[in-house]
Amino acid sequence: MVGKMDPGIGMTSLRTRQRLILRLREAGIRSPEVLAALRDLPRHLFVDEALASRAYEDSALPIGHGQTISQPYTVAFMTQSLLERARPDTVLEVGTGSGFQTAVLASLVRRVYSVERVRELLERAQRRLGVLQQRNVRFLHADGARGWLEYAPYDGILVTAAPRGVPRMLAEQLAPDGVMVLPIGDAARQMLVRVTRVGDGFEQEMLEAASFVPMLTGIS
Ligand code: SAH
Repeated sequence: MVGKMDPGIGMTSLRTRQRLILRLREAGIRSPEVLAALRDLPRHLFVDEALASRAYEDSALPIGHGQTISQPYTVAFMTQSLLERARPDTVLEVGTGSGFQTAVLASLVRRVYSVERVRELLERAQRRLGVLQQRNVRFLHADGARGWLEYAPYDGILVTAAPRGVPRMLAEQLAPDGVMVLPIGDAARQMLVRVTRVGDGFEQEMLEAASFVPMLTGIS
């Protein structure tokens, strides 16, 4: 079923995928299940055919509408940071984009809820996950800064576009002990931050410097 859409990158793909995993390991990704998810998912199906031969490089690539598919290292690091303490059952993702991060999450947790503000990107991502037969994902075309109240609270929230500060509505949709990983900042300076809901409040840890597209308001 995947073969039909495979643009024929053929024999090189296994070796280039293994090289990518080695690179991620060297860069500090330790979680065996995160590494396995990235090794097994066909990232070339999440980019335009013209870019398919570059799909296993550790770089961000354009996906249209001025957006990018995140760098594999970033996807791996965010996923590892989200899953480190306890395995979440439900995860809300804000910024579906290509759907690659969505697919990684869907292979690791029971259910993923993914919100994207650009309809065309959302529909394309939905088709890709259909091809991969990942059925544990629900999609919503909306402004993700407001979260997705219908299925809240979530054990995990992962945000792939950078707001200026932690959106309150997202933090409020975290379950007790729930964890949110998100980039915060402006174009010049961003940090990946992990917010954990503890008792009546939130704990915040700075993880590492980051570079994401800005979180925008409204839909298109
Ligand atoms: N994880 C994605 C990253 C895509 S880039 C991938 O690897 O493909 C970030 C995405 O966030 C873009 O698709 C952008 O349209 C989306 N986005 C930005 N602001 C948003 C908002 N307020 N609500 C939902 N999605 C948003």
